[in-house]
Amino acid sequence: MYNYVIVGAGFAGCVLAERIANLLNKKVLIVEKRNHIGGNAFDYFNEDGILVHKYGPHIFHTNNKEVWDYISNFTDWYHYQHKVLAYVDGQTVPMPINLDTINILYNFNFSSDELNNYYENAKCNKKEILNSEDMVITKIGEELYEKFFKNYTKKQWDLYPYELEPEVIARIPIRNNRDGRYFTDKYQGMPKYGYTKIFENMLNSKNIHILLNTDFKDVIGDVEYENLIYTGPIDYYFDYKYGKLPYRSLRFEFETLDCVKYQEVGTVNYPNDYDFTRITEFKHLTGQKHYKTTIVREYPSSEGEPFYPIPQRKNTEQYRLYEEEAQKLKNVFFIGRLANYKYYNMDKVVEEALKLFYQNIK
Ligand code: FAD
Repeated sequence: MYNYVIVGAGFAGCVLAERIANLLNKKVLIVEKRNHIGGNAFDYFNEDGILVHKYGPHIFHTNNKEVWDYISNFTDWYHYQHKVLAYVDGQTVPMPINLDTINILYNFNFSSDELNNYYENAKCNKKEILNSEDMVITKIGEELYEKFFKNYTKKQWDLYPYELEPEVIARIPIRNNRDGRYFTDKYQGMPKYGYTKIFENMLNSKNIHILLNTDFKDVIGDVEYENLIYTGPIDYYFDYKYGKLPYRSLRFEFETLDCVKYQEVGTVNYPNDYDFTRITEFKHLTGQKHYKTTIVREYPSSEGEPFYPIPQRKNTEQYRLYEEEAQKLKNVFFIGRLANYKYYNMDKVVEEALKLFYQNIK
């Protein structure tokens, strides 16, 4: 008899399992269909002994002290600030766009004030921001939009920015200073011994049982339990009764090279060249010392694991139908990026899981 069955062993499922088992001293069964815990943040040492992220590069960053302190109970940190370059017109330049980006790209020697004037003259005026294209061109104009955003977005989503909600690109800042960090959150870092170790530490309790390689629908009828916490896809829970919610996926191509370093920074974006969007070299992120190095190329795809909910109004409306069904259920909680059909960073998932625990779980 379990007090809670939790479907999915990602951040959402593991945070709740840990709190319920350790603070409430209640029995939890985690059912996970993959052969490992950690969800999309799972990492492992590959055959050459290099720590890699199976589902693409993950960097922990947050402004939420409660979230940072909570995760710090399960790991020490390697203090890392992510840097990204973009390969544009044959040069690699800082991304997000900043003063150095423009000076290198056009061989200028602008100050911040001169750059502000440059943006001011380049930007297009629009009465209303209706989509992601409007969002960018009203800040920096069409030329920079074409070089940095248009084709990257098309590759990533198979949609042009004018087809996407304004918020999709609004997340990427445009800077007038020389700040070359990708994220500016107060707390940033990489777990010193990897993400999987965090999950192992969270789940290390006699109150938690874990069933891997198991789809919850195959076992749920045979388990006695009081409450269900569901972190899988919400449309699957309801047997796709309102249709399948669309996702964008990725194919990862890992390569280990016989050299110590492949590229200057953690990630290089390729907005206009090649079929992949970006290359990440893990050793920059993890600080690992090794005589070889592993990189990963990301190829966006419509097939495969559900990674990114597609941010279009019609999809949000379809999700709302499932959400209404979910709200009618007693003793079933829907949480996490798949159950809420939202792109969440890890810190947001932890924040939501803690909120659910303290407000609703007894
Ligand atoms: P998940 O980690 O997806 O966990 C859900 C689990 O449920 C999965 O393990 C799944 O197998 C399991 N499951 C699903 N259906 C069933 C079923 N029927 N039965 C049993 N189990 C089931 N966030 C950041 O903060 N920083 C980053 O740098 C970052 N980079 C990212 C890069 C990529 C390429 C992607 C795709 C995401 C990135 N994220 C990043 C987001 C991060 O991955 C998510 O915030 C986080 O993994 C969400 O945790 P979750 O528990 O909601 O979902």
